[in-house]
Amino acid sequence: NKTLRKAVIAGNWKMNKNRKEAKALIEEMKPLVAGADCGVVICVPYTNLETALQATEGTNIKVGAENCHWAKSGAFTGEISADMLTEMGVEYVVIGHSERRQYFGETDATVNQRVRAALDAGLNVILCVGELLEQREQGITEEVCGMQTKVALGGVSKEELKKIIIAYEPVWAIGTGKTATAQQANEVNHYIRTVVGGLYGQDAADAMTIQYGGSMNAGNAEELLAQPDVDGGLIGGASLKAADFSVIVKAA
Ligand code: PGA
Repeated sequence: NKTLRKAVIAGNWKMNKNRKEAKALIEEMKPLVAGADCGVVICVPYTNLETALQATEGTNIKVGAENCHWAKSGAFTGEISADMLTEMGVEYVVIGHSERRQYFGETDATVNQRVRAALDAGLNVILCVGELLEQREQGITEEVCGMQTKVALGGVSKEELKKIIIAYEPVWAIGTGKTATAQQANEVNHYIRTVVGGLYGQDAADAMTIQYGGSMNAGNAEELLAQPDVDGGLIGGASLKAADFSVIVKAA
């Protein structure tokens, strides 16, 4: 029952936009998403966080980072802690994106550690899970997504779960223009909800926002977002254009 939970559309800018471009994009986006029925979040490169926080002040747009480290501080050259983010006023963080898993050695275990650190710092987490193409072809999509979900949520209490959004992102659909069909997206989202239900109970599963991500755009958003188990989206490419992003926000 979709009325039990909030749809959230989150932009994932990835490694795009300098500060000047970030400011311009947000200014263009603000009037287009004002008054949205869904939650609106933009996850931006660390160097744009301050700019994004200032530009979105007093608006319905929340700001997120694209990762955080699991330690509070220490000898981790190049990393950013969750506490550093909350101290700035950042409210969201993406954890476990497939690009982090593929290119930067993230594992289910480090994803879990980062989730824990983000929750301890009071951040809302957008936790990404999703299968590779060969895993889908092998018929193990549910096992992979179930395992990623379970490991990532290790040590997370039912109360803390309220601060987590899960984004189902089939890796083969990310940045490829190959969107999952609405039915494929809904099937896996539904399965993930069943896994959450098994861990935390039906009420927690019903309340969990589970997004779809992977080539969602202005043209296909409406059909995907109409699915009973799709509660919003994590948007890469299409979040870099204010007009496209706002069409998706309006469809949610
Ligand atoms: P995409 O990216 O919308 O460009 O496919 C989605 C994501 O990686 O979150």
